[in-house]
Amino acid sequence: MRIGVDIGGMSVKIGLVERQGIVSREVIKTDSDGQTPYELIEKIADAVELLLHKNMLTAGACDGLGIACPGTVDAESGTVTYSNNIGWENVPILGLLQQRFNILMALANDADAAALGEVICGAAKGKNSAVLLTLGTGVGGGVILNKKIFSGFLRGGCELGHMVIERNGKECTCGRKGCLEMYASATALMNRARELTEKNPNTLLHKMTGGILSDIDGKIIFEAAKKGDALANEVVDRYLEDLSIGIANIINIFRPEIIILGGGVSAQKKYLTDQLQKRVDKMCFGGVHGEIPSIVTSVLGNDAGIIGAAYLAGM
Ligand SMILES: [Zn+2]
Repeated sequence: MRIGVDIGGMSVKIGLVERQGIVSREVIKTDSDGQTPYELIEKIADAVELLLHKNMLTAGACDGLGIACPGTVDAESGTVTYSNNIGWENVPILGLLQQRFNILMALANDADAAALGEVICGAAKGKNSAVLLTLGTGVGGGVILNKKIFSGFLRGGCELGHMVIERNGKECTCGRKGCLEMYASATALMNRARELTEKNPNTLLHKMTGGILSDIDGKIIFEAAKKGDALANEVVDRYLEDLSIGIANIINIFRPEIIILGGGVSAQKKYLTDQLQKRVDKMCFGGVHGEIPSIVTSVLGNDAGIIGAAYLAGM
């Protein structure tokens, strides 16, 4: 048995994990006002103890405890260097948890942990390599090579969402212009649809939302596209083209066995992956002479981070 902890902006999810997945879980809220990182870590430790107790286990009986956390982490020292989502800076989380549990521990970025989770028992089960792209508020990424997380050798590597796909394109939060994240995130998809719907009131997308632009979300855009709405199809087509460029670039660099898409947009499953695969196949280096990985959607969803975290220690 292993323990996985996935820290997010709203909640911390804790699970007891075996090869086939999560066998028992706890959730605690993160958003208490004025809570210091140290108070939250105490709560996490208490919740881990409670979960173990409920399952009649001790920490000593487990093979490892792993933490997945958004932002930049220093895995070697077990420190969360900077996380905007949870407002942490230089928090030595593993050192603090080691005062409570005498067990093998490890720390990783949450997208990296989710990618590992998919390799353990999700969409990339049985594979040695995979790249996970999460298409949500932003575009996150995790790279697995030889069943291990690869995040570069210096801190801040493998930021797949920040590869430029359009020179002098849209301004990104990272300071550059034209990053993949500005075109392939769910936010980017919605923004573009809202922008065009405002200018074109005689569309299905406009009718479906009663003209309330804030009601246009990813699901409605794809729904309107499937129903044949020209504007929604234009938005989806541009989105798929931009995302394909990013995926083909990733394939050309890593050539993993599989590309997994997670995050809100991945709910479109085969509708999304079939169209992407067709486009990406034509863009990859080597054409038919190169091996092209399949593009699939995440199997584990929000559980991937917990499962990956659990398998960080002692891998
Ligand atoms: Zn960027």
